[in-house]
Amino acid sequence: MENIAILTSGGDAPGMNACIRAVVRTAIHHGLCVYGVQSGYEGLIDDRFRRLGTTDVSNIVQRGGTILHSARSTRFLSTDGRAEAAENLSRRGIEGLVVIGGDGSFRGADHLSREHGIAIVGVPATIDNDIWGTDLTIGFDTAVNTALEAVDKVRDTAAAHDRLFIIEVMGRTAGFIALQVGVAGGAEDILIPETPTNLPAICSLVRRRVAEGRTSNILVVAEGDEAGSAFEIASKIEELADLKSRVTVLGHVQRGGSPTSVDRVLASKLGWGAIDALMDGAWPCFVGEMNSIVTRHPLADAWTNRKELDPMLLNLASILTN
Ligand code: ADP
Repeated sequence: MENIAILTSGGDAPGMNACIRAVVRTAIHHGLCVYGVQSGYEGLIDDRFRRLGTTDVSNIVQRGGTILHSARSTRFLSTDGRAEAAENLSRRGIEGLVVIGGDGSFRGADHLSREHGIAIVGVPATIDNDIWGTDLTIGFDTAVNTALEAVDKVRDTAAAHDRLFIIEVMGRTAGFIALQVGVAGGAEDILIPETPTNLPAICSLVRRRVAEGRTSNILVVAEGDEAGSAFEIASKIEELADLKSRVTVLGHVQRGGSPTSVDRVLASKLGWGAIDALMDGAWPCFVGEMNSIVTRHPLADAWTNRKELDPMLLNLASILTN
């Protein structure tokens, strides 16, 4: 293998740049030539490649977003679209591809690899942390810290006005961000899709705490919680118990910003791991980190297995929110 390409796909996550840097520099260290593909699978189909040297990835380890841009591609869902992508790779003599993205991007990678024999390694990057096979995904730690900073700030104003706040965090259908932020931010309750949400019980708890003299109450809600969005939960709580609340939806701020050291180091290790897997011929696969060891898994494991929340943290949350 002499030439490889790299792309970022799907939802962006802080730390993607640190991973691009690690892939490029590790590949160059092994004598490979690296091409960056602009805008994910869209760029692969539209032939948007550029050579990446060591200096092209200087001064990006600390930057959020992705210098290669990310995109969603409807065309890549079809065999014709993927055939065009494969043709562009083969014309340049590119045999290996590193795909940094979430499980959707891995599904696309799996098709491309099977249909055209391209050596592909996936690197899990999503703020949601909902990919099995890695303790953490790239971007999760940064998103949690960003949300936590917001929760701490809301706490100040909530306490000043004796208010109930409902803060909605991201996470798609999983509660990883909410659980982590809720425990770290001392939330009075954490509403996540993995556990049943009992709004009448939450209302009684809030009332009891107010009666006991608690000056602020913060509920951290995962966007995928079955009780609804933060706004819906706020109106249900008002209907049920005549409790007024303020809602803060953190939204896309959680996707941005300079990655934390945890994300930068994870991204660097997994970028290295992706090249290591390509050079070993261990493709198609995705890499992860479990118990500090870089691991390799079949791509399909990313969507056939469901990653569980840490039961210890769940249990702890229920004790600390008492
Ligand atoms: P993420 O990688 O963050 O989960 P998406 O689910 O949006 O993001 O997937 C990113 C891109 O991967 C999609 O826009 C599409 O081009 C490709 N993709 C997703 N699922 C498939 C699939 N089943 N087959 C082929 N390509 C897919």
